[in-house]
Amino acid sequence: MARNFLIVSLLLATFCLVVQAQTAITPKAPFTSKDVDLWKQMQARGRETQRQTPNVGTGEPFKVLGNLYSVGVPIGNSFLLTSPQGHILLNTGFAESAEAMGKNIETLGFKLSDIKLLVPTHWHNDGGGGTAYFKEKTGAPVLIGAADIAFLQAGGDGGNQKVPAVKVDRAIFNGDVITLGPLSIQAYTIPGHTPGSTSFSFKVREGNQDYTVFQYCCGQNIPENFSKDPNYSDAGMRHTFEVFRKVLPVDVYVSGPSSGFFLAERLAKYKAGDKLAFVDRSTFPAFAAWLEVEYENKKQ
Ligand SMILES: [Zn+2]
Repeated sequence: MARNFLIVSLLLATFCLVVQAQTAITPKAPFTSKDVDLWKQMQARGRETQRQTPNVGTGEPFKVLGNLYSVGVPIGNSFLLTSPQGHILLNTGFAESAEAMGKNIETLGFKLSDIKLLVPTHWHNDGGGGTAYFKEKTGAPVLIGAADIAFLQAGGDGGNQKVPAVKVDRAIFNGDVITLGPLSIQAYTIPGHTPGSTSFSFKVREGNQDYTVFQYCCGQNIPENFSKDPNYSDAGMRHTFEVFRKVLPVDVYVSGPSSGFFLAERLAKYKAGDKLAFVDRSTFPAFAAWLEVEYENKKQ
């Protein structure tokens, strides 16, 4: 009797698993379930790296590709895009790390006075905390997503958002192109993490080839309380996933501090002599597919 019960239970469990597998949410084309699986594997591999990576601090500066450099916050949160006519600082890191990040930039051989635009992806401490410091040091104008202007200008000292207030000089709207000399950055506002979170797409040249870089902002998951979070909406997420398709193919994917885990892997390869270690067209679709599935699961 007990044996029969065991067999029936096993059959039932198998049936449930099959049904679950059949109804599992899959991402829409061109993203695939394989992409989702890849991101899950990367996350699992990266958990240990993330545990070892301090949130505040600068980390070592390094060249990513072409004229793109990682300059602060381990690993890979703030980037310097350089040109003979001046540089753009994408994210200004934590207020506490700003001075060390400035030193990182000088270690790479660049002058702070050559930074001509300060462009935080969002107003939070990790993206915009160092903006006031760098504005004072460089005199460069500050550009941020229009809906984040009030927050950055007010600053904040509550919780973990230590952000010195700073005047914003120009609003970024979805689709804007930010230019400086030969540099050209396509901006996409992707509300969610903050009302004005902005992602950037641009080309860098290495050897004789152009590569598309996508810097995503921000948040590596969908909040559990999605429907109650005032920053998130179905309309905003639909826009996000439209942007994800628009920017394909992405050769180099960089993101906030949570992307440190795969950048750390790439950096190790780079140091071992692989100059194209950060080029990988599979990483961004993996993240995008996974986020889309996360959203479908959590939106109710
Ligand atoms: Zn943030």
